[in-house]
Amino acid sequence: MKTVKLHNKTFEVFIAETEISTIVHSMANQINISGIKNPLFIAVLNGSFLFAADIMRKINIPNCEISFIKLSSYLGTESTGEVNELIGLGQDIKNRNIVILEDIIDTGITLEKIILLLEKEEVNDIKVATLLFKPEAYKKDIEIDFIGKSIPNDFVVGYGLDYDEIGRNLPHIYKLKE
Ligand code: 5GP
Ligand code: MG
Repeated sequence: MKTVKLHNKTFEVFIAETEISTIVHSMANQINISGIKNPLFIAVLNGSFLFAADIMRKINIPNCEISFIKLSSYLGTESTGEVNELIGLGQDIKNRNIVILEDIIDTGITLEKIILLLEKEEVNDIKVATLLFKPEAYKKDIEIDFIGKSIPNDFVVGYGLDYDEIGRNLPHIYKLKE
């Protein structure tokens, strides 16, 4: 399936399933040899569910764990404005070595919020692994430790990533067809 229609838009294959698999395998190898001890992987839902499932099968670090979070925002009092919280973190993560698993990092705003919230939990170390990265859109200076593939500023779907909640099931990654 070279193109796919989601809602009113047409998308074309951008990163085929076989290439995704190669990228994920290579990222797992980099993490495996990085020397991180007893890591707690934290996958950011919903987008990273397939990436997390696939990369974890290739991780061979002893005593590694995985947990899943969502970042939610709500309106606090007038003085606090928008407040973010992590949903799903049901365990004490104090002193843990965290590896954040993200599907895609665009501006970096989401990543920054997640890191601030994790730091409040007094973790020991935080590393970031993202399947896709948009360097032209990135506005933060947080170092990203493991990058699968840097891509142009195009909108992509598939392999967990959605267009208005659909398309997450697609095995390839697609981009908007011009
Ligand atoms: P950031 O906060 O880095 O700007 O954006 C992070 C979030 O925006 C991602 O976790 C993802 O949900 C969404 N996002 C950014 N770029 C894309 C894209 O090309 N496709 C899809 N489906 N979501 C994107
Ligand atoms: Mg995401």
